[in-house]
Amino acid sequence: MKLKITTLLILVLLSVYFGYAQTPNSPVGGGEFVFNAEKYPCLTDDQRTSIKEELKNNVDELQLQNKLATSIKGRRGSHPLFIWPIQKANGVTFNDVWSISGYVDHNVNFPDQLTDFNCGTQTYDTNDGYNHQGVDIYTWPFTWKLMDENSVEIIAAADGQIIAKNDGEFDRSCSFNNNVWNAIYVQHADGSVAWYGHMKNGSLSTKNIGDTVTQGEYLGIVGSSGNSTGPHLHFEVYTDVSYTQLVDPFAGTCNNMNTDSWWANQIPYTNSNINAVMTHSQAPDVFPTCPTTETTYESNEFDISEDIYLSAFLRDQIADTPLALKVIRPDGSYLYDWSINTTTTASSWYYYWFFSVDAVGAWTWEVTYEGQTVTHNFNVTNALSVEDETLENTSIYPNPFTDVVNINSKNKIMKASIINVLGKTVLKFEENTIVGIKALNLSHLSKGMYFIRLEGTNIETKIIKLIKK
Ligand SMILES: [Zn+2]
Repeated sequence: MKLKITTLLILVLLSVYFGYAQTPNSPVGGGEFVFNAEKYPCLTDDQRTSIKEELKNNVDELQLQNKLATSIKGRRGSHPLFIWPIQKANGVTFNDVWSISGYVDHNVNFPDQLTDFNCGTQTYDTNDGYNHQGVDIYTWPFTWKLMDENSVEIIAAADGQIIAKNDGEFDRSCSFNNNVWNAIYVQHADGSVAWYGHMKNGSLSTKNIGDTVTQGEYLGIVGSSGNSTGPHLHFEVYTDVSYTQLVDPFAGTCNNMNTDSWWANQIPYTNSNINAVMTHSQAPDVFPTCPTTETTYESNEFDISEDIYLSAFLRDQIADTPLALKVIRPDGSYLYDWSINTTTTASSWYYYWFFSVDAVGAWTWEVTYEGQTVTHNFNVTNALSVEDETLENTSIYPNPFTDVVNINSKNKIMKASIINVLGKTVLKFEENTIVGIKALNLSHLSKGMYFIRLEGTNIETKIIKLIKK
């Protein structure tokens, strides 16, 4: 009996251990990004009124100066057919960089009486009667980082003439603050006007009021100026500069403003997408306190002794749908091949897991969702197997040590890792100073044998055995 209980205990412990390591059904972490959970309006009534006055005045002034674009003067033709006003900048490695938090609210009642063009509730209103008048497109994932790095561009949805422009405003708003936004306003040939709001300070096109822009032309970077809880574009459209009619560019059963779509290719209401598939050296910091820039801990180079964090960032996740996941070894075999079911419908969501790997070489992390597959490559090397030690005349002392290990080297030491006898990295140090790392305090390390891996400014390395007394 005693033997049986012990065996059972061992089996339970083994299944816990391997359950975690081998069949990673549950993500370690992640969650929903709820953009503008507080439902702050993008503009106050006063702000909207003064913008409308400014636009009318500017158009009158351009007309007086005979600078109002000819095609606009006649206000002929049918409404433009928009392209999507957001694009990722050159060199951005994410698969996509945006999601939608809210459309135009077609339900004039309030509060919380919501109807978007598709008869859903992906919109908002406020207690004092504001019904959202535009589409809010926010950056995702790593919303502030994308803004900092100018990764998400606002482009002209249609040809037109700039009739107003405002730049120079603070662009890291986190709340309703009555701030003025940075914006560009474009009038199209049929007289309709598009508002592009919340832009990043100093990012606006150098073109001036009166200049024309062509469809797809750069207008600015998505920012968080004005009343805003984070980087997003507020895109608002009117039929004319007298604002007789607000336009919801999305065609749908519950659009009571216009019957036809103003999009050349209207995107689906549920537009599921894998925005990014990444690897990290530790769990990414996705939701720091606004407006702190997120830390990705992105890494594509790992030592076999390190834990590897894998992430997937989704747009328009649908509840109870499968997310298929594969971690593929350099030889094409699967280390892991599993699937999870999503729990929640959300405009943005992410997951992460962490694993240890068992082979060196070029690995692939593959995510499949709603018919789309996105892969990400990462490299695994084995530091302890490196025969060529290129850091000459480098030593440590004392060894064995009790608390502090000193490093004696002709080279500047930039990185140091402590690896245990199982090959696992237990501590990492990095120092980008003029002198580099000269000493390490290892007083918290348990007693025993370790390896210390030192790295110089280039790729030179040295591994030394050390003993903690
Ligand atoms: Zn808005």
